[in-house]
Amino acid sequence: MNQHVVSCGMQIVLFILNQPTTMNDTTFSNNKRPLLLALAWSFFFLLPPIKAYNQSASQSNIKNGYESELVQWNHQLKGVSYALNSSKTTPCQRKVLTKILKYTEVYRNQLQKSYDRTSEVLRTFKENDPELFEQVNNIRDKDGNVTDVYIKVINDYGAENGIYGSTNLNQSAHDIDAYTSPYGDYSVLVKVAECPKVLSLLAHEFGHVIYQVPNLASYVMYYQQAYGASGNSITGRGHLPDDPSHLSVKRVLKSFHRKSRKGP
Ligand SMILES: [Zn+2]
Repeated sequence: MNQHVVSCGMQIVLFILNQPTTMNDTTFSNNKRPLLLALAWSFFFLLPPIKAYNQSASQSNIKNGYESELVQWNHQLKGVSYALNSSKTTPCQRKVLTKILKYTEVYRNQLQKSYDRTSEVLRTFKENDPELFEQVNNIRDKDGNVTDVYIKVINDYGAENGIYGSTNLNQSAHDIDAYTSPYGDYSVLVKVAECPKVLSLLAHEFGHVIYQVPNLASYVMYYQQAYGASGNSITGRGHLPDDPSHLSVKRVLKSFHRKSRKGP
């Protein structure tokens, strides 16, 4: 599998540097590692099948990228609470479970905030440009396979590497025309930074999705030739002047900003 992204960084989003953010980062520090290990053990013990969940999720092809993870952590929270309240739990186990419960609640609440914010952004985007939203919502690959587009609005995304939006670029192991992402085959993962221009960032990434999903195999070949050995920094990939995905972004953004000025 090719491990690439088209990443949208300094050349388009310098204006959002140092913008204040509103959500907390969903990570733990190293000194929480023993607890995380215990959490991971109980997580897998209690884990519902993610694939089964994804297959039964909403009919819309644009999906909130936090949804399946949130369902899992809600499940985890119930499992830990159940174990904590069980009469068979020893005092020693209860002590460990109490700590696990605390961190599970913290992480789950942060996920909920990320999920809610992503849902809000998607709702607003649909109101601003329903045509573009529906175009991505109905995106299919070269062979006509419906392809889901998972969206994550991420707090502090881009703070370290100058990348404020990305669309993954990966081919399925069994079909070079089929997109794949961490969510499985026939799916794309789009990440955008939480910032005042988040709608514009999302429109930008939708420009990549609109070109790359139906032209995956040919675009991967172009991408490898254009960026593979060129030494381009990751922030420049996907945006050479003659890159067809870049040209798609330009077209989409022009239309999006025209509609945004008019209002929904
Ligand atoms: Zn880009």
